[in-house]
Amino acid sequence: MVLRTALLSDELNFAAEAVREEQTQGDGGDPWRVLVVDDDPDVFRVTELSLMRLRFRDRPVQLLTASSGGAARACLGQERDIAVALIDVVMETETAGLDLIRTIRTEFGLTDTRIILRTGQPGQAPERDVILNYEIDGYADKAELTAMKLFTTVVAALRAYETMSNLSRLTAELEKRVATRTAELEKLAMIDALTGVANRRHFDVRAAIEIAEARRYGQALGAVVMDIDHFKQINDCYGHATGDAVLKQIVDVVTLQGRSCDLFARIGGDEFAVLLPDSARDDSIALAERVRQAVAAIQIEVEGIVIPLTASLGVAMLADEDADIGPTMSRADHALYVAKASGRNRVAG
Ligand code: GH3
Ligand code: MG
Repeated sequence: MVLRTALLSDELNFAAEAVREEQTQGDGGDPWRVLVVDDDPDVFRVTELSLMRLRFRDRPVQLLTASSGGAARACLGQERDIAVALIDVVMETETAGLDLIRTIRTEFGLTDTRIILRTGQPGQAPERDVILNYEIDGYADKAELTAMKLFTTVVAALRAYETMSNLSRLTAELEKRVATRTAELEKLAMIDALTGVANRRHFDVRAAIEIAEARRYGQALGAVVMDIDHFKQINDCYGHATGDAVLKQIVDVVTLQGRSCDLFARIGGDEFAVLLPDSARDDSIALAERVRQAVAAIQIEVEGIVIPLTASLGVAMLADEDADIGPTMSRADHALYVAKASGRNRVAG
């Protein structure tokens, strides 16, 4: 159906050309894209003329045109940043416009785009039903949509689009920040703040994973518990800060003794644990022995005196009957107790 207008087609073409020329000379900002989908060429010309001089927030309007629902889909495949879509209802099919609305909202996911439905045959798509059942932001009878009304409708739609897209951007930014912060906090919750190695919680989580792997592939899993000998004396003699420095130095040294798959964790004040995937008893004891020697070789000097530093270690293996890492760690703790009781600076297991 031809859009009612006082202007003749030729006059429209002439006026549109003049404005087009004027606009290409001075436009800077990214334009607001308005998609006009209609199978009546006169509708394009009237729309173009009504919106040509429009600048909103100092940005011009760029019209994209499509003469069918299919052509509009192809257009959207190329350009998603559509502020407003003015859509005819009846085009290649009776419901082409309505189908296109669903495509825009669901398939293309354009929820910010403001959709104004323009119909030449209002009886065919009853207003109440369409407004209720389709995600549209306006419904107009072409016969009533004068140039001025069209201008008003589009400006109102641009304003709404601006608000919507600002909100969407803000929401996406906030979601990204929350996700980053959550990941950071999750990481922090798994790390010992003083030494930077895994904490007890991380150790338990990894242990559960490694137990499942060990059972699946029939592999051995070793656990080592280490406690610094007479650590309290270091605090008492040299101060808590020196004690902290000693703990950090120990971590730096012992983590070099394992493989990349081994997990070193601080599980208490001066207590550490190592989880050794796919590691037989001999290999686990050998690792514990290397760690013991590495700690004993640390030379920390305070006021010209080298602080004597040793550690005791207990080793245990995951047993078939162990439901989780708890019983394995209890046996490693018992071995540690034996190492302490038999003179410290040794490995038992
Ligand atoms: P043992 O050989 O029997 O293990 O003797 P010990 O003195 O090391 O005794 P124990 O392991 O019970 O003492 C641990 C000490 O570690 C007690 C506590 O003051 C100290 N400690 C715990 N956490 C920290 C910490 O974060 N920093 C420092 N500097 N000291 C800590
Ligand atoms: Mg100790």
